[in-house]
Amino acid sequence: MKRLLLFLTSVGLAAAEPRAKNVVVFLGDAGGIPTLHAASIHGYGAPGKLFIQTMPHMGLSETSPVGAWVSDSAAGMTAIVTGHKTRNSVISQSAEAVPGKADGVPLKTILEYAEEHGLSTGVISNMSMADATPASCYAHANHRRKFAEIVAQIAKPRFGDGVDLVIGGGRKGIFAATEEAKYDFRKALGEKGYAMYDRPEEIPATAKRVVALFDERFDPAPVVRRAIEILSRNPKGYFLMVEWDMHTDKLRGGLDQAVTMDKLIRQTADQVNKRDTLLLFTADHSFDLRVRGGKPGQPLLPETPAAEEGRSAVQMFNTHTAEEVLVAAMGPGASRVKGYMPNTQIFHILMAAYGWKETGGAR
Ligand SMILES: [Zn+2]
Repeated sequence: MKRLLLFLTSVGLAAAEPRAKNVVVFLGDAGGIPTLHAASIHGYGAPGKLFIQTMPHMGLSETSPVGAWVSDSAAGMTAIVTGHKTRNSVISQSAEAVPGKADGVPLKTILEYAEEHGLSTGVISNMSMADATPASCYAHANHRRKFAEIVAQIAKPRFGDGVDLVIGGGRKGIFAATEEAKYDFRKALGEKGYAMYDRPEEIPATAKRVVALFDERFDPAPVVRRAIEILSRNPKGYFLMVEWDMHTDKLRGGLDQAVTMDKLIRQTADQVNKRDTLLLFTADHSFDLRVRGGKPGQPLLPETPAAEEGRSAVQMFNTHTAEEVLVAAMGPGASRVKGYMPNTQIFHILMAAYGWKETGGAR
């Protein structure tokens, strides 16, 4: 009887918390709740119209790094993908790191766990692929500005065969940094079986391992759709991180980006199998923006960029802020997203969704 009960309990639990085969993390850089709110009014003329705002499971994530209250993208993303808080500027190393001077212990990332388990993996961003958010997924460095050292780790993975898709910005800067470091990035990638592409539309559906770096702005919709097609060929599943910059230092540009990412999440929710794919949105830190005026029927932002500088319904100070950010999720494992959590909890939610245990050598 006891056995039967135990059996029924475990079946019950399994039914309540199915595992995810695939996980897509959408990281709105600086996409705090005030930005999402303003983006909904800016894009749709009313609050609560974003897809993100309709996702069924939500929580609040506390984003402070070690040694400060306000996080940068490096410490923010490190916490999300490794489950450990660290210092600002540090890329997936422990808080013993001295930024730019001394290494901490490398912290094993969710992307590295996915590689170790034989999944396919990818990172996509409209920022430089050497920048803090994508870097924290695939690299370890004591300072976010060590671009050559960071991208060299694409071709020198610690687990599996390394990140399979690296698609996004930073082309000029990355090649300038690797040339200055006398590192032949192209050759190293070629030896590891990566194909390189210069334009988003060049990436074929048959691609396996891709490093595609651009300097031009690009539409994320076809790129993310193609990436998911490629990653989905792995029967074991995949992990994908998509960053879209939502810094609103340029108000209109930032809020447009927020609307773009929201549409992207809606599109992805339509593309994937909701029974086996966890979609999770969060931000690495918030941003100092507030809706302080305006009313229905009027555009939130003035028509001319010059007018943005002056008085408008939105007030913005160009700085990151410390208040909690949204975590929103759907799909298997999403019900663990609830309440008020440290940003490190997101890592544990992703691990639990896959059904993986943190290994002793978690570092
Ligand atoms: Zn950031």
